[in-house]
Amino acid sequence: MVTIRVEGLTKRFGDTVALKGIDLTIPAGEIFFLLGPSGCGKTTLLRNIAGFYEPDSGRIFFDDEDVTRLPAHQRNTGMMFQSYALWPHMTVAKNVAFGLEERRIAKPEIARRVSEALASVRMEEYAQRKINQLSGGQQQRVALARALVIRPRALLLDEPLSNLDAKLRLEMRSEIRRVCKESGLTAIYVTHDQKEALSISDRMAILEDGVISQVGAPADVYRRPHSRVVADFIGETNFIPGKILSVSGENARVETSAGIFGGILARPGWSPSVGTAVTLSVRPETWTLRETASGGNEIGGRIHESVYLGEIAQYRLETPSGPLKVFELNPHFVGLPPDRTVFASVSPADVVVLEH
Ligand code: ATP
Repeated sequence: MVTIRVEGLTKRFGDTVALKGIDLTIPAGEIFFLLGPSGCGKTTLLRNIAGFYEPDSGRIFFDDEDVTRLPAHQRNTGMMFQSYALWPHMTVAKNVAFGLEERRIAKPEIARRVSEALASVRMEEYAQRKINQLSGGQQQRVALARALVIRPRALLLDEPLSNLDAKLRLEMRSEIRRVCKESGLTAIYVTHDQKEALSISDRMAILEDGVISQVGAPADVYRRPHSRVVADFIGETNFIPGKILSVSGENARVETSAGIFGGILARPGWSPSVGTAVTLSVRPETWTLRETASGGNEIGGRIHESVYLGEIAQYRLETPSGPLKVFELNPHFVGLPPDRTVFASVSPADVVVLEH
């Protein structure tokens, strides 16, 4: 268990500045996700922490130890990568034991720790199977056991589940979280899969072009994105342009071409003046549909498209502010004539006022 601290980390590849002065603290025992658009620097940051890359400037600490110049094999991190291949013709036990044999640990101790690691991923009974006799999910469990057996100070994961089918991914998601929490491991996890991040992270960072845009717990980032890029990257949203009418603390009233909306300011401490151009971000699932107008925080529109998915329906409305995505749980508006006008209302708590 270790607190990982990154200070002013910068990494260049020729003319590309992949990381631009990253500051980040990940407390001991936390499961922390790195997310962001392709090329934003997630893997580069993870590889700097692992010791595969040396930063151009900045420092990395494991607790109070400065590990910036420490070679990867001396950092004692467990790694699980998409391409971290196991030896297909060797047994599960042999694959897991490898890291300990390299460290010249005594044989009885190796046997004890291998069976402990296999038990933690629920694979004890497969110890003598060859890797090529296992399913994809079982192989992933072995890779996790191999990362754990060295008793790492931290676990670093780069897209560890991207080769698995949807069902196995779901199963392995909770398995990884369980194992990390049981052994109190600090884990840093890179993924493109938002659902993976939302479901198992304690906190997450969204990177954008080598800079951290926002750090927070999944629900904070989802419900109160600080920028357009974050709102757009995590989940789906509607952007509605408008102008500030008034501000009171964290609340604002905004005039749009579809009416006046109350909302919350994206960042605490930001205080835009009256008339400032802003963008509202409203998630599709936060709207409530009605056939008659009910008053404030509402937008009227024509149902342009509806897709029925059983537990929800997805609608596209044509509104004075452009197309609007609305998701309805337990849908009952499906089947209305496509040109029918409906009204979508939203609570001010679900309207995030972003800088333009
Ligand atoms: P993806 O989601 O596509 O995996 P990422 O967020 O992990 O992307 P990185 O792989 O960290 O992004 O890359 C960040 C930037 O650094 C990109 O512009 C990339 O082209 C560049 N880069 C990464 N590794 C190298 C390298 N070895 N040599 C040159 N440029 C590199």
